[in-house]
Amino acid sequence: MTNDRNNNEFRSLPSVERLMQEPELGGLAGAYSHAAVVSLARQQLEAAREAIRGGGQAPEPGQIAAVILARAEEGWAPWPRPLVNATGVVIHTNLGRAPLSDAAMAAVQAAAGGYSDLEFDIQMGVRGSRQSHISTLVADVTGAEDGLAVNNNASALLLGLSAVAGPGAPGGVREVIVSRGEGVEIGGGFRIPDVLLQSGAALIEVGTTNRTYVSDYAAAITENTAAILKVHPSNFRVTGFTHEASLDELVQLGRERGVPVLNDLGSGCLLDTAQYGLAPEPTVQQSVESGAELSFFSGDKLIGGPQAGIVAGKSEWVGRLGRHPLARAVRIDKMGLAALSATLTSYLKETAHLEVPVWRMIAMPLDVIGKRAEAWLQAVGSPALRLRAGESTVGGGSLPGETLPTTLLAVRPPGSTDAFAKRLRAATTPVIARIEDDEVVLDPRTVAEGESDLVIQALKDALRVS
Ligand SMILES: *Cc1c(COP(=O)(O)O)cnc(C)c1O
Repeated sequence: MTNDRNNNEFRSLPSVERLMQEPELGGLAGAYSHAAVVSLARQQLEAAREAIRGGGQAPEPGQIAAVILARAEEGWAPWPRPLVNATGVVIHTNLGRAPLSDAAMAAVQAAAGGYSDLEFDIQMGVRGSRQSHISTLVADVTGAEDGLAVNNNASALLLGLSAVAGPGAPGGVREVIVSRGEGVEIGGGFRIPDVLLQSGAALIEVGTTNRTYVSDYAAAITENTAAILKVHPSNFRVTGFTHEASLDELVQLGRERGVPVLNDLGSGCLLDTAQYGLAPEPTVQQSVESGAELSFFSGDKLIGGPQAGIVAGKSEWVGRLGRHPLARAVRIDKMGLAALSATLTSYLKETAHLEVPVWRMIAMPLDVIGKRAEAWLQAVGSPALRLRAGESTVGGGSLPGETLPTTLLAVRPPGSTDAFAKRLRAATTPVIARIEDDEVVLDPRTVAEGESDLVIQALKDALRVS
């Protein structure tokens, strides 16, 4: 019986050819590859057969076509979709981290669509290195002898540890000393001990979770020690009975014992955070100045540039990284180099706080934020809205626990806060807000000047259907 029933249902399913005659699919096949649309049609027919086997009914051709259309619209529409970050988290890892400066965007545009001297020496007419320009910039900005840029900081660290303490390391020594308080997980499953393992280095942990002294490192140095690694605990803070060996102490120890010191700064700050009311974040310049052989940092956290891993340090050691076979595997692309070059130039010109969006947002005065929030309030004009004091965060694994005072536009929606936040996300340009104390809150700090109209419209629309 079931089989008879199933056979009937199977027979009432359209063929691929019949399905492709549905008007939606004709339009789809006109705009995209015919083969790709047919492939989606086959997948959906197979899904329908599976459903029939499970006791379901055959869907109508129109229903299947609608599913195919939705699937194509979701998968084939332009991506990533721009959105408005009203969360007040300046470096939001889920929302693409650092937005680029105008100069960086222009540099990408110029480099992306045509040919360039990426690996070409224009004067000599011979092959050049994609690193030479960026090395000079990194050195000039940080005060280091030499620099290198790769795909991201995770790969910079993997490359650095592989070149300094991996198979084939100088002298065959492989041990890397790390404080137990710094064997951290950065996020997305990226753990310092795992990266060390992957590089082929041997991890020697010293000290305890809360207290590690320079003497702990000193006691662990043997003839097998390849390096001391210091890691910025980017996303958490240990308070109370704590102690860490300073970079200066470690560099001095390294000098005395002939061991290079590698410093993973994570965020890689080039400006003084204290002038914006934040805790002092260790800067790259300080790390270089202290004499660490190699300093590692991200391009798209507090540098405010493209995804990149930047290494600044002593020529001898940077050179070793550049020559390692992994360097090719983790190399940075031309768009990243173009954006990074423009971003670093802003620091050389001392205009980063005016040009680099991450710093513009951090530096945004409270009264400016308040005025923008007030303007949104007036423009939307609903009793469900009010202004209130709140806090923005820097995010992106920098300055954990640190906040900047801000003014929030708070919505107490008629329905649930989740439903309201979802409606804001459903805007043509999605608006991402935060939920705090039963209110949906929007922070002007992370909303670009030109995006205010999008926020106002999204609020109006979301309130209208509430
Ligand atoms: C963020 C971070 C990394 C990874 O950097 P990516 O550029 O995201 O690859 C490595 N180390 C530390 C300490 C970090 O904070």
